[in-house]
Amino acid sequence: MEISFLGAVDTVTGSRHLVHIGGQRILLDCGLFQGFKTYRTRNWLPFPIPPKDIDAVVLSHAHVDHSGWLPVLVREGFAGRIYCSAATRELTEVLLLDSAHLQEEDARRANRFGYSRHTPALPLYTTADAKRAIKRLEVVGTNEPFMIGHVHATLTPVGHLLGACAVTLATGHHQTLVFSGDLGRDNDLLMPPPQRIAHADVLLIESTYGDRRHPVVDVGAQLGEIIRNTSSRGGTVLLPSFAVGRAQALLVCLQRLRASGAIPDTLPMYLDSPMAATATTLYRQHRRLLRLSPYEAEHLCDGVTVIENAQQSEELTRSRYPSIIISASGMATGGRVLHHLRALAPDPRNHIVFPGFQVPGTRGAKLIEGAPDVKIFGTHVPVKARVSHLEGFSGHADADELMNWLKGFEKPPRQTFVVHGDPAASDALRLRIAEELDWNVLVPEHRSTMTV
Ligand code: ZN
Repeated sequence: MEISFLGAVDTVTGSRHLVHIGGQRILLDCGLFQGFKTYRTRNWLPFPIPPKDIDAVVLSHAHVDHSGWLPVLVREGFAGRIYCSAATRELTEVLLLDSAHLQEEDARRANRFGYSRHTPALPLYTTADAKRAIKRLEVVGTNEPFMIGHVHATLTPVGHLLGACAVTLATGHHQTLVFSGDLGRDNDLLMPPPQRIAHADVLLIESTYGDRRHPVVDVGAQLGEIIRNTSSRGGTVLLPSFAVGRAQALLVCLQRLRASGAIPDTLPMYLDSPMAATATTLYRQHRRLLRLSPYEAEHLCDGVTVIENAQQSEELTRSRYPSIIISASGMATGGRVLHHLRALAPDPRNHIVFPGFQVPGTRGAKLIEGAPDVKIFGTHVPVKARVSHLEGFSGHADADELMNWLKGFEKPPRQTFVVHGDPAASDALRLRIAEELDWNVLVPEHRSTMTV
């Protein structure tokens, strides 16, 4: 078989691996490049082969760094099916429509301020493009092989995000490829641990945290203490959160804190993000896939006011009563959370808690570094509120958990490729796999093709 590494090999975004196997050209993931501009410009390059020559796409999970380029692939001529799990289909719909909206907003802004070299600036893709891609999503069961031509394909749940799976492609003897997708944690709040896979001849393993261990902390206890202290001095706790996955984990955490009496059950809780509200509904519908009891899934939003519209959101920003507010975006780069930040940051009684990774250069990263003020809607807002970063909410396996998952393989794959990591993380994992497991392992180069 032949594999072309077309994204997420020198970075954690743009996941795209083209596998030529059993006479089929199968694209594993079709993600958007994000972060620094050098990566983002890759979104505008044509696909290395005509998209019409790709037979099928298999999607590991819904995160846009794995799914967010599908609208371009379909617009540029891809005519096959996009296979994924049922929950991935539903989350992908939500995330692709949001991504298209952001692309359209970017183009509008570029036109308004004239900072595009192209006039008029065009979005990378539109809502109509996203809808066309969504129509191609084809649901397949997990742990049930399905056929792509003569290739047996299987999705295996790996925690991380609702619907997330590893992908196996197999044909004949010694031709089994396993792609980990993003692996979840052994002890996640919401998702069960990643299922192990017994056999691979060729393995692609992610390495987001390939050089790091998650701190051993009880994030619930940390959050509980912050909430108690903040509310006792009359302040509000603002949780800027990713709408899908993280917001639901926070809800679980808050419900448990309330049930145990660790935080007062009279303290109002708000979920102010339309996408988080939709995602929460999907999580509850797919409760069988979660690590929650039916009771917990049923009562996830008890006592939580879900903010429906912009007007209610504005009213909430004017409120001076102590409360807990979950709002997006997770890195305070946009969305309703900006209005809350502007209202809450100048008051030392409040506490802003970031429960997710903050990409360097974002407003969230500046705040956790202790910036004395932040620019919001063109004005400098002084930051007098406390700011914390809770790292224990990560949805990714750390280096030890990645190594543990690898130990599930009964014998070493013929070749292992370390993908989906920054260079230092990928190389650290490569070294551990070589030294601790004595496997054949390498980190492929961006746009390289290997025959294995
Ligand atoms: Zn992911």
